[in-house]
This record gives sequence, C-alpha cells and structure tokens, in this order.
Amino acid sequence: MNTQSAYDMNIQYVKGVGEKRAQLFAKLDVFTLYDLVHLFPRNYIDFSCPVAIKELKRGSVYCVKAIVGSAVSEARIRQGMTIYKTVVTDGEGVLHITIYNNRYLAEKLKVGEELLFYGKVISNRGALEMGNPIIENANPAFPIHPVYPLTASLSNKTVENAVRNALELYYKTEPCDPIPDSIRREFNLCHEQFALKNIHFPSCLKDAEIARRRLIFEELLVLQTGMLRLRRKNKQKNDIVIHNDFTPLFVRSLPFELTNAQKRAIAQAVNDMKKGEPMNRLVQGDVGSGKTVVAAALMFSAAKNGFQSALMAPTEVLAAQHFKTLSSMMPGEIRLALLTGSSSAKEKREVKAALAKGEIDILIGTHAIITDDTVFRSLGLVVTDEQHRFGVRQRGALSKKGKRPHVLVMSATPIPRTLSLIIYGDLDISVIDELPKGRQKIKTYFVDSSYRKRVYAFVKKHLDRGLQGYIVCPLVEENESELVSAVKYAEEISKKEFESYRVALLHGKMKPKEKAKIMKAFSEGEIQLLVSTTVIEVGIDVPNAVVMVIENAERFGLSTLHQLRGRVGRGSVRSSCILISDAEGETAKRRLEIMCATTDGFKIADEDLRLRGPGDFFGSRQHGLPTLRISGMLDDMVMLEETKKAALEIFENDPLLKSREHEKLRDCVIRLFKKTGQNALN
Ligand code: ADP
Ligand code: MG
Repeated sequence: MNTQSAYDMNIQYVKGVGEKRAQLFAKLDVFTLYDLVHLFPRNYIDFSCPVAIKELKRGSVYCVKAIVGSAVSEARIRQGMTIYKTVVTDGEGVLHITIYNNRYLAEKLKVGEELLFYGKVISNRGALEMGNPIIENANPAFPIHPVYPLTASLSNKTVENAVRNALELYYKTEPCDPIPDSIRREFNLCHEQFALKNIHFPSCLKDAEIARRRLIFEELLVLQTGMLRLRRKNKQKNDIVIHNDFTPLFVRSLPFELTNAQKRAIAQAVNDMKKGEPMNRLVQGDVGSGKTVVAAALMFSAAKNGFQSALMAPTEVLAAQHFKTLSSMMPGEIRLALLTGSSSAKEKREVKAALAKGEIDILIGTHAIITDDTVFRSLGLVVTDEQHRFGVRQRGALSKKGKRPHVLVMSATPIPRTLSLIIYGDLDISVIDELPKGRQKIKTYFVDSSYRKRVYAFVKKHLDRGLQGYIVCPLVEENESELVSAVKYAEEISKKEFESYRVALLHGKMKPKEKAKIMKAFSEGEIQLLVSTTVIEVGIDVPNAVVMVIENAERFGLSTLHQLRGRVGRGSVRSSCILISDAEGETAKRRLEIMCATTDGFKIADEDLRLRGPGDFFGSRQHGLPTLRISGMLDDMVMLEETKKAALEIFENDPLLKSREHEKLRDCVIRLFKKTGQNALN
C-alpha cells in the first residue's frame, strides 16, 4: 500500500503513464496524481442525443446516428494522401462521410452497420458532408467523451485512460473530502468522488454540471479560506508606529488642493499606521486619480518619524518617472534614491551602502530593490505601484526587508467592489473614485478600418500643432510573430503616412535601456508619434500626448482599453481616443460602445463583469492570485458570495483548520498558496 499522498505521488506511477508520458503531461502542468485527476476536460463530445440528418445545418458540429449505405471507396489523390468516402443514412436523410488517411477508421465502416458519427458538417457541391468524424458504436457504454486540453503527441485517448486509472488510485489514497460535510449539505454540493467521476466521465451532461459547480466551489473556498487567514496573519503586532502625522505639512506644500477621495485615503492609511499593526492597504484609483501624491504624503510622514520607505514600480521607466516626480515634490531634507537594474555597479553599491546606514529616506526602484543584498536600516513603509503586475509573492519579499513594515499597494485597475473583496481579501481597501478638478474628458470614438485614412489625418492635425500621439498596435501577447507585425506596421506608417514626422516604435521585447531612451525622447517631445504595444499601459505620464489610436480594439479587454486610454487626457488640451475595429459580434460592439459612453473606470469594470462574467478575472494572471484551475469558468456572482460565506463560517470556528474535518481543506490551502511563496497557515 502506498502511503504517499496524491499531492506528492508522481504520475509516472499511474498505470498507463510511465516516465516518458509523464514528461508530456508536465507540459500541461500535470505532475502529481492530484494534478492528473484535476486536469479537467475543456469540453465533451456528447453521443447521447443524435440529430436527424434532415435537421443538419452546414458549419456546425453534430452527432448523427446512421447506417453505412455503401461500400467505402478509396482514392489516392497524391503521395501520402488517401481519401475514403462513403454515404450514411438515417432513413430520412443522406450524409457523405469523408476520411483522410486513416485506413483503420475507414475499415470500421461496414455496409449495413449502424454507428454514431460526430463532427463538423460542411456542404460539398450542395451535399452535406462530414469530414474525419469521430466514430462510436451505436450504443456506447460511455455516451459522453471528455475532450482534454492537449499537448503535441499526447492523444485524447491516452489522457482519458490515464485519468481513468488515476481516479481509482486517487479514491484509495484520498478518501476524505476537502469540503466539510456541513458546508457540503448547506450549499447543496455533491461529494468529491461524484464530482471527479462526473467531471471526467459523466453519463449525462447534467451530472457534469453538478460536478463542475462543486469543483469551482471547492477551488474558491480554498482560495477564500486562505485569504482570510492571510488577512488575519497580517494583523500581528509591529513596532512601526507613526505617532506624529506629518501628512498635513506635505499636503500644504502641494500646488493643488487634494480631492476628497485622496484626503480620505491618506486619513485611512495614517490611522492604520498608528495602530502598532502592519498596514495592508490597497489604494484603488483610476488612472490619473492621483495615487502617487497619496503615497508621497505617507512616505514623507514616515521619513519625518524616522522610518525609511521603499517604492517599487513594475518597470524602469515608471520607477524613473516616480523618482523625478517625488524628487520635485519633497522638501530638500528628504533624501531620495533610485535603484534599478540599469543602475551602474558603482551606483548600486553606493545606494545600498547609504541605505544600510540610514542615509536614504525613500528608495525608489524596480524589483531590483528586493535582491538579498539590499538592506534597510529602518524600513517602515513599502509602497508597490500597479500591483497587478506583481504577484502576492513579490509583495511578500519586499515586506520581509523590514520588521513587518506597513504596506501600501496602488492599483489603477478598477475592480468592482464585490470582486475586490475576494481578489484582495488580504488587504483593506481605499477607493479613489474622484478625479482632480478641471480634468478634460477624453472623447472616444469607435470606427471601422475604412476610416483609417481619416484617422491618420486627424492624428497629423494634432502633430502639426506641436502635440503628440500614440498608435497602439494589434498585439496582445508579445510573441515573435505578432512582434513582427507591430514592427512592420511602424515601419510602414513611418515611411508612408507619417513620413515627415518623427515616429518611433516601443515594445516589450526591447531592452530596458532602449525603452527608457525612447520614452525619454517621447516625453521630451523629440518623438511625435509613438507606435506601441500595450507596454505603455502602465503609468506613463506625458501631458502633451493628446491623441491615441487603438488598432483592432476588440482584441483588448475593456480594462486594458481603459488603461491605455488613460495615457492621454493628462494635460489641459482636450484629448481623443479612436478605437478602430471591424468586429462583427454584438458583444464586441457593445463593449466598444461602452468605452465611448463613459470614462469612469469603475463603471467600465462593472460592465465588463456583466458582459464577461467573473471567470475572466480569475482566469487571467493579472491579479497576482494563486493560479486557479477551474474558477476561470465561473459565470455568475452567486457562487462567489456563497463561497465567501462558507469560508467565513469555517474560519470563525477553526481559523487554523486544525480539526479533523478540515484536514484535507488545510492541505489544499497550503498547496494553493505555496506557489505564491506565502504560507497561509501558520
Ligand atoms: P495615478 O493615480 O494614475 O498614478 P498620478 O498620481 O500620476 O495618477 O497623478 C496624475 C497627475 O495628476 C499628476 O501630474 C499629479 O501631480 C496630478 N494630481 C494629483 N492629484 C491632484 C489634485 N488633487 N489636483 C490636481 N492635480 C493632481
Ligand atoms: Mg500611477
């Protein structure tokens, strides 16, 4: 009997896997027995309800039950390509079946035999045809087949068999259910065993749905229980008490009046830092809402109380920008320093030495400041900007540089309140839902590509007036082939339409130095038009840039579009954003129309949530949460509320999950958060 838990057992010992296939499974992030039974199908092939041939419409996928009507013909059309053809009928209609290069499959088709055919129906010279169907016996033992996410050279059948064997082993090794019985009954959830069997091999799709609900519930429950624990853990004592509040002194020195929302955020943080417990606060505010000043006021106050602060930005460009802004805001007595990957060795050495001696009050940098040899003398406050770029892990690493310093996280991604409670369950939240007075609204238009020439003319008109602009390229992932298209685009327009203008390209694959150079040139006005990928999404502040064109706008999420658009509208000139898209779909159009209708990030986030469901938030890696397997499929808010309630119930009675009933849940929580470098339970 194997005493290893399913979390540790390497899948190579599962029947039908072995060492070689285990390596292929690794590409799917499947390493252990636990992983394998939690590798969920992305879809099912349902042989349980065949459709009559006369009902078939071309272009869709169907299951058909029919009798083979003619002997299979064989035609070799060229070297290495043989086509087998036959005709099948269900008594009312006729369907042509074509099989490419698969003699084994073709031999299954015996005249007079009734079979199930599953595949996409096309029309070939007016006749209905199914090419390379999946073929099943007329009355299969398992009428529903799981379809797994695959990697090259791992067939669906192999995965299916491996999962089948893994399940048996799993039931033996892990007989307990992670969801406690009381919660299971209260929320009407099936047992783990039922769930795992039916997510893989359901006898009807309804059972698969019951299984899916339970598994999503489980994952969210684990997440939320861990979050509650982290939050409680952060409420330990620390010795960093900011007794004297110097923020009013700083605020009085500013050339503008703070908005009420900014004042509120500062007051909340000041209050946190007096308590003798580490602050863990998220400041959520739309682009341009003025989060930097909030952080600056707090860092100033910390310095006056004898504590150092660190501000971590996700890119060098942003770090440099923060350094510049903060240097200009702070009175001379406050000592600032910048530390990034491209600082020279000498600079680094000097800054680090000064830091350790306490001769620097505020250190600004990229993740370079979390390397081991950066030592603070008295770190009191850690600020991270644009936190969705950092994981929970990096946040943790910086905090370890001090003795439980206060932490302030700034995020420019407005998230609906219901979601932020879950995504940032370990943080208190201040919302800056107000823009500084006198901001110009950004006018947004949505056009199709037939307007492109006119759009270019519109951009030129601005450049001719000495203003600047952006064109954001249709590039979502920064991979090679898309990169080529962005580079081409930039070259083409700089040779044609914008020949007499100074155009530059900025993308994520460039070296930091190169990027910084271009950004500097752009912010100094040397470059007039910046063709860019989404790297400009984060925090760039060039008030003279007043027009932005976004190509293939439908390919970006609403919040990305919103972030991008926030790069303009930063000065006193009225700004415009033009979304170019040929998208046909109603939802896509609706989304772009929302962008035109409002500039309120929280409203946009709400709409996004309504249109796409909460799954997207969990499916993306943007939020820095542990990776979730199945909650990305979440399509309503109800379960989020339910799991929150369940997590609280469990947490109230047994915060460390020490009771027997919570043993397995505890394992799951530890495992989920381990990947983020956090220990949620100790
Ligand atoms: P974000 O929240 O996007 O990080 P910033 O902190 O960069 O925004 O602020 C954007 C600009 O607005 C900066 O130039 C900043 O100096 C200015 N600003 C911030 N608060 C106010 C205010 N209350 N009134 C006027 N301008 C402000
Ligand atoms: Mg900012």
